[in-house]
Amino acid sequence: MSCDVFQLAQQGVQGLKPYQPGKPIEELEREYGIQNAVKLASNENPLGMSEQVKQAIQDSLPEMARYPDGNGFILKQALAAKHQVDMDCITLGNGSNDVLELIARVFLTPESAAMYSQHAFAVYPLVTQAIGAKHNAVAAKDWGHDLTAMQAALTPKTRVIFIANPNNPTGTWVNKTELKAFLQAVPEDKIVVVDEAYIEYVAEADYPDASQWLNEFPNLIVTRTFSKAYGLASLRVGYALSHPDITNLLNRVRQPFNVNQFALVAATAALQDSQYIQDSVKLNQAGMQQLTEAFDSMGLSYIPSVGNFIAVDVGQGDAIYETLLRKGVIVRPVTAYQMPQYVRVSIGTEAENAQFIQALKSCMAS
Ligand SMILES: *Cc1c(COP(=O)(O)O)cnc(C)c1O
Repeated sequence: MSCDVFQLAQQGVQGLKPYQPGKPIEELEREYGIQNAVKLASNENPLGMSEQVKQAIQDSLPEMARYPDGNGFILKQALAAKHQVDMDCITLGNGSNDVLELIARVFLTPESAAMYSQHAFAVYPLVTQAIGAKHNAVAAKDWGHDLTAMQAALTPKTRVIFIANPNNPTGTWVNKTELKAFLQAVPEDKIVVVDEAYIEYVAEADYPDASQWLNEFPNLIVTRTFSKAYGLASLRVGYALSHPDITNLLNRVRQPFNVNQFALVAATAALQDSQYIQDSVKLNQAGMQQLTEAFDSMGLSYIPSVGNFIAVDVGQGDAIYETLLRKGVIVRPVTAYQMPQYVRVSIGTEAENAQFIQALKSCMAS
């Protein structure tokens, strides 16, 4: 090309650093000639999918050649019953990532700002940058969201506030009192997004399910996903709950068929399989204990987590990540999250956790 195509791009895109996903197992095995690698890098459900989901997908296979229901009726109906809301409060997404992007496209402009916490989920700065909007990152407190500081940092330009509860990669959470007080303090002309991707794992009595507050706060959006506890990460399906006026706006920019047929039937079936969620949560609690006991015995400090992952202080995160790769264990480096001493590890099966612990011990010894 005779002109520099980079200069043609929108300013925000010029400054964009793409999301770094967890390394796929096949890639590691191909690049390093390793077998039996384990991936504990993307907070996926180690149980695999539920049998009921598998059956629903098999039953749906003959529909492959047809477009999916662009309105996602069966899934929205099931979600409306689960959350006791009208269907016009629900926006379906190709993963909740898609929904976060819709929110940015609807509400952010180059003149306005998105607020999020230091160490918060990378997608918030990313969707903000893609619009060319301003960043309003607020310093964390004890690795978690400092809602008092966030309230103090609001400006007339702040249009969207992202709160991950619990947060990834830190596993920290905000309690009912703190979150409610924050929502009450934020003016109604600012959209507050509470991302509850890991809610199914949280057992703390004082943890707020923000979806209960939709009637009170017309500027609240709650996002959920089927990628984590529901075990459907590859299908890409998530959703937002909000006031119908917000749903209406989000659906204007949504692709007409953003959630595919298999995702729709799988998510609908997954909602019926409460045993699978119970088993997943139980496995996660046992695995969390297995890992924290190992860290304690190794003298490693970690950030207490209520999710299905934990950030552990290994001194040099990037180096340990690389060494673990060579031993066939994929974790997540978090230097990009301003946590260079840490790696984040997802809770796996007992055997996967044991393989990780053994590899980590041999890394730390050398
Ligand atoms: C994994 C994750 C999501 C969900 O992503 P999907 O696009 O639904 O797969 C959303 N928010 C946070 C904080 C996450 O860690």
